[in-house]
Amino acid sequence: MNNSCFSQFQLIAAIATTPQAAKILQPLSKSIKATLYLPKSVNWSEEAHIYHESTRKHLISIWDKYQAFIFCLATGAVVRLIAPLLKDKSRDPAVIVIDAEGRFVISLCSGHQGGADKLTQLIAQQIGATPIITGASCGLNLPAIDILGVPYGWRKGEGNWTRVMGAISRRETVQVIQEVGSTLWQEHLPDQHSFYFGFPESQESITPKARIWISPTKRKFNPDSNLPKVQWHPRVLWLGIGCERGTSKKLIETAITTTCQKYHLATEAIAGIATIDLKADEKGILELCKSWNLPLKTFSAEALKQVEVPTPSAVVNQEVGTPSVAEAAAILASKEGTGKREQGTALVKNKNCFLTDVLLVSKQIFKLDHEPGAVTVAIAQSELEYTGRTGKLYLVGIGPGSLEQITPAAKTAITEADAVIGYSLYTNLIKTLFRPGQIIESLPITQERQRAQRAIELAEWGLTVAVVSSGDCGIYGMAGLVLEELQTNNWDGKTPQVEVFPGISAIQAAAARVGAPLMHDFCAISLSDLLTPWEVIEKRLQAAAMGDFVTAIYNPRSQKRTQQIIIAQQIFLQHRHPHTPVAIVHSAYRQDEQIHLTTLEKMLDSSIDMITTVVIGNSNTRNYANWMITPRGYLGFEQQNNQ
Ligand code: SAH
Repeated sequence: MNNSCFSQFQLIAAIATTPQAAKILQPLSKSIKATLYLPKSVNWSEEAHIYHESTRKHLISIWDKYQAFIFCLATGAVVRLIAPLLKDKSRDPAVIVIDAEGRFVISLCSGHQGGADKLTQLIAQQIGATPIITGASCGLNLPAIDILGVPYGWRKGEGNWTRVMGAISRRETVQVIQEVGSTLWQEHLPDQHSFYFGFPESQESITPKARIWISPTKRKFNPDSNLPKVQWHPRVLWLGIGCERGTSKKLIETAITTTCQKYHLATEAIAGIATIDLKADEKGILELCKSWNLPLKTFSAEALKQVEVPTPSAVVNQEVGTPSVAEAAAILASKEGTGKREQGTALVKNKNCFLTDVLLVSKQIFKLDHEPGAVTVAIAQSELEYTGRTGKLYLVGIGPGSLEQITPAAKTAITEADAVIGYSLYTNLIKTLFRPGQIIESLPITQERQRAQRAIELAEWGLTVAVVSSGDCGIYGMAGLVLEELQTNNWDGKTPQVEVFPGISAIQAAAARVGAPLMHDFCAISLSDLLTPWEVIEKRLQAAAMGDFVTAIYNPRSQKRTQQIIIAQQIFLQHRHPHTPVAIVHSAYRQDEQIHLTTLEKMLDSSIDMITTVVIGNSNTRNYANWMITPRGYLGFEQQNNQ
């Protein structure tokens, strides 16, 4: 089964040197698409790459080919094997060790930038082991500062990362100056953190021990300064480019780097290139976009000429039908896609509302002696950063309420997501699955549609978002709402990518607690008439009762909705014997679980509320020693309850 939660870690190598270790790694490798390597001595008959030289030699030969290594081997042996191969933490692969019993998963090396901490947590969820992570930020439940911007596509700038992280781990005051980019991360920090945001008022006596800049500006830090500093660059700069036909990539590149230097802007903060549609096939621009890995946005002359710009040109207007290409394209690109992001919590504080404000650098013209063509560059700043990522939506069922009743795949998806969205009761139930730095958005129970829209908004921006529902996500859950909303948005079926993770629904949970009431044809009916007209519900109750279906009733009674369950009972009494077994299951698999086995005529004597599922047996269902049993087949059985 292709598990997309691990797709960010391709390629992964798994190495075992004993048959017991191979047994642990073989199924794991298959599900996470890792390549399994075993020495010849293991004598393995199943799928694996067998190597003939020593493990040390073999590791050297594959070291540069993989992003992550998973060893099922003694930690000491792994340390000795990898020690000569390590270079530095910005380049080393993630190294993970699993013990031969599969009880522990250890993040050994490249925990942050190499992603070993995250991979460790995902594998631990996948195989039901305990993750061992020893990094300081994880212990403080803080996002690691050297990977803080990764979910949002930010790029790292210069700085003394080790010293700044040291200050954070000692809980010293660390000043954060965020000039651009999403501030979502700030709103999801634990209560106990030592970040100080912005500049202290003159009367405040704050002495920061380190500083983090989040900005499009490229700052040169004095390496001898007592205050260690680092900088992240959110990708907010849209470069408008106008050029003559045949302008070389080199000239465009020079124009960009010179302009950025002159205005102290970081090239890392460039989101993409914007130009007129006539230039969509301009070789120099396309080559530049490819080698710098930048998106290209193009606009028609019609759209460009609507934009008010500081430096319009009559000559350009005559040539291409708009008085501005570079400035107008930069402004339009920076504004694109921000209009929709109005609902939910703002992704960015201090919104920048005025068109002209977004232009940071007006048109600059460049020519070079030995290079063909001429180029103009203008730079606009977008409110929301470009993430450069394709978002994903995980629609996850978390089962009836206890962690053991969640599938490992669903747990992995929740741990992997950048953001988790759900009703607060459910996000509370699963909080042990969260990683430090994850964005957890809990919305009230009544706002399902807003939750769906919010999830889509974040996924369209580029995040991996897990939307959680209790039970199964696709049974009176969020999956349908999210897919419906996507359809309304003219979704192409692919982007954002959607994956549904099934969960144990209340009907199965309730049934399991009382025996085997669903052994024959059954159905589920929700009595909530919030989204369904009551006539429809009543018709279905009639049909289920008449059809002799075992029937699970969801949403049976709320504080305001008290009559529906009474009507449901009356309908079933028209078709079934008053002694028909009924199970009233409250809070299955939760701490306040309560179960009553009763009969159709007495069912209303038990307390029934919104966390109750009522299971009404069919004409053959019976109670036996506190168990509810529906026979597998009718042949050979009398219609008991109707007699
Ligand atoms: N998606 C959920 C159903 C949501 S509708 C699922 O698949 O289970 C909410 C209804 O589910 C509740 O009113 C109740 O009838 C039922 N329910 C949810 N959790 C339950 C639990 N732990 N025990 C009993 N019933 C539960």
